[in-house]
Parts: sequence; C-alpha cells; structure tokens
Amino acid sequence: EAPKSLNFIEHIVEEDLKTGFPKEKLRFRFPPEPNGYLHIGHASSICLNFGLGLNYDSPVNLRFDDTNPAKEEQEYVDAIKEDVRWLGYQWDKECYASDYFQQLYDWAIMLINKGLAYVDSQSSEEMAKQKGTPTEPGTNSPFRNRSITENLELFDKMKQGDFEEGSHVLRAKIDMKSSNMLMRDPIIYRILHRAHHRTNTAWCIYPMYDWAHGESDYIEQVSHSFCTLEFAMHRELYDWFLDQVYDDGKVRPKQREFARRNFSHTVVSKRKLLQLVESGIVTGWDDPRMPTISGLRRRGYTAESIRNFVDTIGIAKRDNVVDVSLLEFHVREHLNKVSPRVMAVLNPVKVVITNYPEGQVEWLDAENNPEDEAAGNREVPFSRELFIEKEDFREEANKKFFRLKLGGEVRLKNGYIIKAESCTKDTDGNIMEIQCTYDPKSKSGSGTEESLRRVKGTLHWVSIEHAVPAEVRIYDRLFLDETPDAYKDRDFMEFINSNSLKTVTGYVEPSLKSSKVGDKFQFQRLGYFNIDLDSTPENMVFNKTVGLRDTWAK
Ligand code: ATP
Ligand code: MG
Ligand code: MG
Repeated sequence: EAPKSLNFIEHIVEEDLKTGFPKEKLRFRFPPEPNGYLHIGHASSICLNFGLGLNYDSPVNLRFDDTNPAKEEQEYVDAIKEDVRWLGYQWDKECYASDYFQQLYDWAIMLINKGLAYVDSQSSEEMAKQKGTPTEPGTNSPFRNRSITENLELFDKMKQGDFEEGSHVLRAKIDMKSSNMLMRDPIIYRILHRAHHRTNTAWCIYPMYDWAHGESDYIEQVSHSFCTLEFAMHRELYDWFLDQVYDDGKVRPKQREFARRNFSHTVVSKRKLLQLVESGIVTGWDDPRMPTISGLRRRGYTAESIRNFVDTIGIAKRDNVVDVSLLEFHVREHLNKVSPRVMAVLNPVKVVITNYPEGQVEWLDAENNPEDEAAGNREVPFSRELFIEKEDFREEANKKFFRLKLGGEVRLKNGYIIKAESCTKDTDGNIMEIQCTYDPKSKSGSGTEESLRRVKGTLHWVSIEHAVPAEVRIYDRLFLDETPDAYKDRDFMEFINSNSLKTVTGYVEPSLKSSKVGDKFQFQRLGYFNIDLDSTPENMVFNKTVGLRDTWAK
C-alpha cells in the first residue's frame, strides 16, 4: 500500500516531533459535551484523534466536557461511550471536566489573588453593553477594581450558594481593549443552581468552557488539542489561561483547529437534533433517519463504512458541505462485500405456475454471496404459487423491458424459466394474478441444455406458502433542502420532508426467520436491509439501509 499523504493536522504533529517534542509525551483527546448523541460530524473528530493515537501508539483520552448541568445527562455519556467503542476505538483514560472542579476552583482563587480575576455583579445585559464591538474597545466594569479580599469573599459566597443565578459572575481580568473580543474580561464562572449528573449538588458555580477546556487538557497532559474552527479566536484565551497555571517541565497543550463538517440534506448540531427528537419528528436519537452514529448503526451502516467515509473526506481547513451520497457510497461498497444475498418481495403480485404440481415443494440451492465464497449456500423453497414484484410484470411492453410480459420468458433466480400466459384483473383493472408455465428442465445449476438457455431477465421471488411477512421501513432524506440550516431568514424545521418514512409489508424468504437484530442483507435487486431493533420473531421489522445504486434525483 502506498503511504498515505498526511493531512495538515498530522503535519503539525510531525513538525513538533521533528523539532524535538518527545514522541512518548504525545497524548490526544476526544472531548464531547454529553448534551446529546454523537453524530457523523463527530466521527471526523473521533477518527482524527484516535487515528493519531493509533499512528503514534499514543494514548487518547475520552474527555467529557461536562460543565453545563442544564443540558447534560448520564444517558448521553453512556451513548457516547457505546458509539466510540462501536466505531472501533479504545480510549486510554475516561475523564470528566467535572473531576477537575476543585482544581479549577483553586486556580480561580489563585487568579483572584494575583489580581487577575474579579467578581462582577452586573446583569448580563450591562456587561454585554460594555463589551464593545470588534472595531470599538470595551469599557471597564465598575466592579473591575474590587479588592482581592472582597473578590475572595464574594466568590466564596457564590460557591456557598448565597446568591441567585445571574447575580454575580467571576471574570478574568485581561483587557477590555483587546482586539480579540474574547479577551475582554471573559466570564470564567457562573452561578447555576442545578444538580450535575456526576457532582450532584456539590457545586452551584460552574466553570465556563474556555476556562475548563484548556486547563483540563493541561491536567491530563494532552499534547495536542484539536478542535473545530469556531474556536480559532479562543486560542489566545486558551493560551492566556495556560500561562497562569503552567509549570516548567510539564507538557504544554497546543490547540489547533480544523473545519467542522456539514452534510447535505441533514443537520449536525446536537441542539437541532434534540429539537427533532423533542418535536416527535423522529422516534429518538437513534431513529434510522438521524445523522447520529446510533441512527446510522440502527439503519444498517457498518463502523468500517463510516471510518472509510471519514477517511475519504479527510480533514479540511475551511468549512464546507459534504454530499451524503458519498456516505451512502461507502456503506454500499462495504455491504456489497459482507452481506448475504436473499430474496424478498416488497410490492407483491401473485404468480401461479399452472403446470407445477399442486402441493409440491422443492428446496433450491442458492449462493449466499458471490463476493465471498466462504459465505456458503442456503436452500430456498419453490412452489406453485409465488410472489414477484408488481413492477416486474407488464401485460405489454417494448423490447427494452427485460422483465415479465405476456408471452415472454424470464428466469426466476436460482430456479426455473417461466413464461407468462395470462393474467386476471379486478374490476379496476389491477392485476391480481399472473398465470405462468415453467420449463421443468430449466432448473438453475442442473447442467441441462435448458438450464443454460439464456433469457434476458432474472427476477427475484418468494414462495407464498413459505414467505415470512415483515414490516419494511423505507427512508427518504429527512430534509428536502440540501442545506436546511444555512438560511438566515428561515428555520431548518421548515424543510422537514414529511414523507421521509414509508412502511410496507414485504415478504421475505424463510431463511431470514432465524436472523437477529442488526443482521444485514442484500435483498436482491432491491438494496441493502437490516433487522431493526423493533423486530421480534413474530413481527419482523427491516430497515432499508441504502439502495443498490445512487438513485437520488438530482
Ligand atoms: P454540536 O453543535 O453538535 O453540539 P459541538 O462541537 O458543540 O457540536 P462537542 O460535543 O463539543 O460538540 O464536540 C466534540 C468534538 O467533536 C469537538 O472537538 C468538536 O469540535 C468536534 N465536532 C463536533 N461537530 C463536528 C463536526 N460537524 N465536524 C467535525 N468535528 C466536529
Ligand atoms: Mg455544543
Ligand atoms: Mg463543544
């Protein structure tokens, strides 16, 4: 295999190693906030960080950025762990920003003592007014010059729970005239009378992201802290905070940024995905239409296909939109290699083979996967009455129609050549039954001259008597617009596709009865399907993962 060229993030690490950073001190982290389930955008960050870990044989921490108890839950922590593992990665340490609350508090006291932090008792509106604009400097808070003693006292009372939410904050004292607005005395603590999913009610002041993130990296001795571009302006603050606590000899974490990934016809923001869940538009975070890792898994995506996709799109320096059909391409490619072929009919019409003996059943030999010899063979039952797809029959059709028409022949996959002789219709003209005859000598694989006879079309089918009825869920895109959340004046919810789920009763061959949740198949000529979580032996449920080829109308 040719060596893969490095992306610009990998170049940063390579450069650091070349200029003397010791390889054994490399450490990375993936830092989700447990305020929702992971989505396909996160997969980029996961593969990047854990990929670096694998390349350099370095530890990667799974760090929960759990500093906002208003939005975070244990359910999300559990789901995130499951998803990272499922994607194929193993973290070194499982860490929580909340484990550092005491250390962060102690450092905040140190900042106050150094004259680098103060309690501001203004409303958030007043503070916002003093922030200035990118071109105009901000103005100092009237509380900026509080004495160290008073600051220590007030901060202690904030911690003791003596104050209401919003009445006081702790701010870093940096520079209200900085050209970087984020350096204009950023808030580092706010009061939140909220129980935290891990620290419960031990704290009622919580550190802000900027204060917690870099210091957490430092505590864990993370060497490279990769985040998305919206944090580029935060880097100066990240470094300023590190300056205050850094000790010689320690690893000094380095923040670098890469582009957030967006995907066509969906949204990847936990806040928006939560809105879809809460509004009932989807059945949950793992609804197969969701761009979440758990939704894709339930839909039938494989971890390998997601990793291959992420690898193909690479790491970018600028924000852009990736076409989801590329993700579909990768799952199709992987499922083609690994999924057994089976027969299912989703829109059935009855075929009666009039010259086939009544009551006779033959078990035909069928190859499980032409792409994989080891997959072996199975038997499928053949009998006088079958289902084929409605679309596979026409009374009359031109020469380009290679399926079944009156007077024409087709081969039934793994079976015989049949000829349509007549059909019966209901009063509305719907075809109710097709009467056919079969050529008894044409059985596939029998070696006879007739079995080798070439006919243009091959159809999939199921024996009515043996077929298992199943609920089959067929999905369309969740949003009609390519970039539903890219409009300033329109809400992404306006673009919901109200027909994103279609449920049909299909008939699957009986070999599928013994399969279990998550099992994946190619329904021949129809696409890739898997067994849904809702499936039971009595009521089987399948999801369509993806079609056999890209059929989205452009
Ligand atoms: P969201 O808006 O979905 O909540 P977030 O960035 O707030 O996204 P985090 O839980 O903080 O979500 O993300 C964990 C890591 O994954 C961060 O380093 C973040 O930059 C990265 N990440 C999140 N979304 C994407 C994306 N769409 N593309 C690439 N990386 C992403
Ligand atoms: Mg977020
Ligand atoms: Mg975040």
